[in-house]
Amino acid sequence: MSKNLLFGYDHNKSPQEQAIKPHNRWHPDVPMIATVNPGDLFTLECVDWTGGQIKDDESADDIRDVELEQVHYLSGPINVEGAEPGDLLVVDLLDIHMHPQMNWGFTGIFARENGGGFLVDHYPDAKKVCWEYEGIYAKSRHIKGVRFPGLTHPGLIGTLPSRKMLEMWNKREAELFSTNPERTQPLAALPTAQSALMGEMTGAAAESAAKEGARTVPPREHGGNCDIKNLSTGSRIYFPVYVKGAGLSMGDIHFSQGDGEISFCGAIETSGVVDLHVDLIKDGINKYGVTNPIFKPGPQDPHFSEWLVFEGISVDESGKQHYMDATIAYRQACLNAIEYLKKFGYTGEQAYMLLSTAPVEGRVSGIVDIPNACCTVAIPTAIFDFDVRPNSNGPASENRGVHVSCG
Ligand code: ZN
Repeated sequence: MSKNLLFGYDHNKSPQEQAIKPHNRWHPDVPMIATVNPGDLFTLECVDWTGGQIKDDESADDIRDVELEQVHYLSGPINVEGAEPGDLLVVDLLDIHMHPQMNWGFTGIFARENGGGFLVDHYPDAKKVCWEYEGIYAKSRHIKGVRFPGLTHPGLIGTLPSRKMLEMWNKREAELFSTNPERTQPLAALPTAQSALMGEMTGAAAESAAKEGARTVPPREHGGNCDIKNLSTGSRIYFPVYVKGAGLSMGDIHFSQGDGEISFCGAIETSGVVDLHVDLIKDGINKYGVTNPIFKPGPQDPHFSEWLVFEGISVDESGKQHYMDATIAYRQACLNAIEYLKKFGYTGEQAYMLLSTAPVEGRVSGIVDIPNACCTVAIPTAIFDFDVRPNSNGPASENRGVHVSCG
């Protein structure tokens, strides 16, 4: 069966030179690039989230210098015949393949001055690791001793916002930003026309829409950049519809990601090809009381029988007690796992990027036992080619390769 390819992406051309241009802002007026009927099967190719800014090489200069105003390049929007505001758009991720022009992936730690990440106070400098694929497995010359199967997924998938919803987003995010506008890592990514690409919209309309189009960085009521690793092959997602035709768009393909995507450029970032099926539930928002998307994870999952689980509580690095703060507790769990992995020869940066990319499970384990929230990070022991469990002989420390730094 030949594929109904509605959006192709040629890696030999820039995003602006594509036959159908991707978009990197959310706005109700981004023109639909194709129309499908409920029940149709179709395919979209997606470029990696940076639009090809990162190279498979031995320097992290590209991570340090990445232009974040360009992200995320999205394929779409797709017009679904008959979809109206108030409906639920049912999207099946039938299959996800690697793009034939990108059989590798990257993970980065962004510098504090350009994005940062969850552990920016501990790891403030730009670093990179590159990955190669062996079928469903990933391994890296920059992090030796590990190999794991990917749970491949689009980090970002959602429907177009209505004008009213766009205005609500821009208002609430601007209010948060204004509480500390000088912060090195801004509190929110506000609209900017710099490097905005409004898909097939051109001229004065595109210029004015670019100034108010919502950035693609956060997840919102329409889905968007949720970065959920289990939203993978075989998943069925129910998206609220906010504009006529729904306007389904996606991108930011992750070969694999750990819960939390903690280093921010944090998954195995890659390009991909997604096979889709859509349907509609008329008036589904009211019928089911849906505000944010809901989904059923797919039937395929890497199977692990044993995990090493690291706990963290809401006491910060200085010893200060916080009240039930799950963010601080999750940070402590991650820092505890990193300190442990360092004993086996990994650098802190390698361990940070490993937690961010491997099929690691993060949980809010307890959120009622005053004053400490308890979060956990679970690492499958089988991803290592050595025994990572504690034993009386102590850890076997070896040279595990090295992450890439700036040149
Ligand atoms: Zn991503």
